[in-house]
Amino acid sequence: MNDIYKILENIRRLGSISVYYEVYCNSCHEFTGIGYETINKIPEYSECEHCGKELNLLKDIVVIYKVTQDE
Ligand SMILES: [Zn+2]
Repeated sequence: MNDIYKILENIRRLGSISVYYEVYCNSCHEFTGIGYETINKIPEYSECEHCGKELNLLKDIVVIYKVTQDE
């Protein structure tokens, strides 16, 4: 595992970073705007709302690390 991922994982354990999965279409190179909080919530079938192409959710998913700010 890459060092940067270890660091991110440690920060995530502290609760200052949340992770979610966003669907990115490799056909039209657009984010679909669909995000999932856990990998379990990702459906088996999904299609791109821009080009209508079936998405390969294993390939077309991008892990987003989001910094949670204390307010
Ligand atoms: Zn598309």
